[in-house]
Amino acid sequence: TTALYVVATPLGNLADITQRALDTLRSVDAVACEDTRHTRHLLDHHGIRVPAFALHEHNEATAAQKLIELLTTGKRIALVSDAGTPAISDPGARAVAAVRAAGFPVIPLPGPNAAITALSAAGLDDPQFLFAGFLPAKAGARRQQIEALRPLAATLVFYEAPHRINETVADLAALLEPQRTLVIARELTKLFEQIASMPLAEGPAWLAADGNRQRGEFVLLVSGAPPAPELPAEALRTLRLLLDELP
Ligand code: SAM
Repeated sequence: TTALYVVATPLGNLADITQRALDTLRSVDAVACEDTRHTRHLLDHHGIRVPAFALHEHNEATAAQKLIELLTTGKRIALVSDAGTPAISDPGARAVAAVRAAGFPVIPLPGPNAAITALSAAGLDDPQFLFAGFLPAKAGARRQQIEALRPLAATLVFYEAPHRINETVADLAALLEPQRTLVIARELTKLFEQIASMPLAEGPAWLAADGNRQRGEFVLLVSGAPPAPELPAEALRTLRLLLDELP
C-alpha cells in the first residue's frame, strides 16, 4: 500500500539488515536517504536497483514536500539514514511528521541502533537508561547538561564523534561520581569493534593510552547515579534513641 516505510539500516556490517528491510527496499518506488552515495553502496551490495533522492538535515522540509507529492501519486517510499534507525540522532522526524499530517501511513521497520547495540553488550544492570544523544559542542552547555543528568539513577547513553571524544570523556569524568562505570563502545559491528568497561575516573587515561582508541564512532555509557549513602551506624543508633524519646 501507499506508505512511508521507515527502514533501519546497518551500523557498519552490511549483513545487519533484516529480511523485511530487504524485501521493502526491493519493492518501493524510491528511497529517501541522507547521502545517496552511501545508501547506493548498501543497495548495490544487496543487488537492489531503486531510485534514491536526498533527504538530510539541510533540505528536510523541501524533501518532505517531495515525499508527500510522491505518496499522493500512489508511490511507496522508504526512508533510511546513513546508519541505524532514522530519526534517532538523525534526520527523519520532520519528514515523518509531515507525512503523518498529510494523512499517509508511516510504517516502521525495526533494526540496528547504536545505543541499543552498545547497551546489549555493556553488562550494566540499571533497570532504566536515558538516551542523551550528542552532548552540546560548546563546553559550557555541555557541562551544564552533564550536571543536569547527574542525579538520574538510569544508565546514561551518549553518542560521540572522534574529534570530541577526549573532551567529552574528560567532562564526564570531572563532573560525575568517579566510581560510576564507563563503557566505551567503538566501531560497533565493524572490523575494529571494541567494548571496554572501566571506572569513570579512568576513562581519560584509557583513551590516552593508545591513539587508536580515539578513532571511529563511539557510544558512551555511564552507569546511573550511585544510591545516596547510608547513615553511619553510630548516627542511626543516636537517631533511634532520639526517636524513642519522642512522645
Ligand atoms: N541513527 C543512528 C542510530 O540509530 O544509532 C545514529 C546516527 S548518529 C548521526 C551517528 C552516531 O551514532 C555516531 O557518532 C556514534 O555516536 C553512533 N554510532 C553510529 N554507528 C556506530 C558504530 N558502528 N559504533 C559506535 N557508535 C556508532
